[in-house]
Amino acid sequence: MQNELIHLIYTSAATDPGLDAESLEAILEASRQNNAAAGITGMLLYDSGAFFQVLEGEREVVERVYRAIGNDPRHERVTKLIAEAIEERSFGAWTMGYPRVTKEDLGQIEGLNDFFTAGKSFVELEQGRARTLLDAFRRGRWRTAA
Ligand code: FAD
Repeated sequence: MQNELIHLIYTSAATDPGLDAESLEAILEASRQNNAAAGITGMLLYDSGAFFQVLEGEREVVERVYRAIGNDPRHERVTKLIAEAIEERSFGAWTMGYPRVTKEDLGQIEGLNDFFTAGKSFVELEQGRARTLLDAFRRGRWRTAA
């Protein structure tokens, strides 16, 4: 179905690993503006030079925005992990939520403790762990931090 609701999850590495707060804010501001107009919701995580992003919306729209994101020179190694139909949005209230997480927060997520405490980053996630991370944020522990 062309206009079914999907979520798309990808990881990437910042081209500038020392990405500052101002540059992150610029990404979030443009994202929120564009996503509100396009009916996209989701969440962006940033830690140690790596991104993890969830995009939710109509398939066609999500794929178009993902293509634009993939061409953005501010990051590289953009890797799609999951793109599938969903019944409902998990981050419906967020045009692009940005929960500020620390390594300690990540290290406490059940099922991912070993992964993050071993110093691994989002770009090393595969589908299974991406789902575990998604579920941890879907459950809402960090929602108020957006
Ligand atoms: P502009 O913001 O004016 O950008 C025009 C072009 O310049 C684009 O090709 C853009 O990639 C590039 N560009 C903009 N600023 C810079 C910069 N400081 N340095 C280098 N190149 C630059 N966009 C969304 O719409 N929704 C999202 O959820 C979203 N998430 C993103 C997540 C990450 C990790 C990154 C890096 C970018 C994300 N973007 C997102 C931005 C997206 O990649 C495009 O920049 C944006 O869609 C284009 O916005 P715009 O049409 O307003 O053009």
